[in-house]
Amino acid sequence: TMASPALLMRVVASAYSVAEKAATIVRNVMAAGDLGIVEKTGANDLQTKADRLVQMSICASLARKFPKVTIIGEEELSTDEVTEELIEDGHCEEILKKSCPAQYTGIKEEELVIWVDPLDGTKEYTEGLLDHVTVLIGIAYGGKAIAGVINQPYYNYEAGPNAVLGRTIWGVLGIGAFGFQLTEAPAGKHIIVTTRSHSSTLVNDCISALKPDSVIRVGGAGNKIIQLIEGKASAYVFASPGCKKWDTCAPEAILHAVGGKITDIHGNSFQYNKEVKHMNSAGVLATLKNYDYYASRIPNTVKQSLVP
Ligand code: AMP
Ligand code: MG
Ligand code: MG
Repeated sequence: TMASPALLMRVVASAYSVAEKAATIVRNVMAAGDLGIVEKTGANDLQTKADRLVQMSICASLARKFPKVTIIGEEELSTDEVTEELIEDGHCEEILKKSCPAQYTGIKEEELVIWVDPLDGTKEYTEGLLDHVTVLIGIAYGGKAIAGVINQPYYNYEAGPNAVLGRTIWGVLGIGAFGFQLTEAPAGKHIIVTTRSHSSTLVNDCISALKPDSVIRVGGAGNKIIQLIEGKASAYVFASPGCKKWDTCAPEAILHAVGGKITDIHGNSFQYNKEVKHMNSAGVLATLKNYDYYASRIPNTVKQSLVP
């Protein structure tokens, strides 16, 4: 008889279904038209009804199945009053069929930390740039991002009414990443993807120093990692604080699962243990290929302005 699947694979399989439920909530809130926008720290740091409902849905659904796992979500909300209709209890069978990498088979619930960004790209969501939006569920063990799910609720929304709307990308270190077509950016071109709504002089000075052929400004950390793995951009460069651990955990696991690299602007890797500070104070540098090319060209003046 088959042994029961390893905990990590059960968590990823559940996170897949939980992220699909989240995407339905994101679409339903937009379709209903009342976004219930709240400013958190200011006009560029927003929370909508979708951020709130999805946070409750993801955190309560995963906590019910995996009660000893630490779950850290972006929004400060209690899951005490979660309604049953927000609970997702399904899982993806296909993920359960994959075998768990040997180094992860012994993981216990209390050793996992799940970082949840219920809606990444909220500013763009409120402005109707719907394909910038993602739902991020990152899974960390030993301080490292080892697995992740990225759901893009409005993938294909500009492709017409017959296109299939939405997709789920998932990955595990040692297995790979699925749900998209891995593509390298055009060789010899330097296409940088960066923030659209959180720019600063430092952000722009850093990009100029890299002498890019072109710059893509889009919302969302999840969305920018998708630009890298689908060959739309060669580097994600963000020389600013602002990104948090829930923004980078799932994207990092997926990018690393396909051989890419993400660090802060100094080249330090991110840590995801539950005690870590949430802010990625020293920015983000990520690539699928040619990480060293970009890392070696970040100006020292930029590095000196960003304290890890
Ligand atoms: P962006 O590339 O601007 O979409 O940012 C990626 C992620 O980091 C999003 O979740 C943003 O909300 C967050 N972020 C980046 N910069 C800031 C900032 N200055 N204030 C608040 N959130 C930020
Ligand atoms: Mg975010
Ligand atoms: Mg968010």
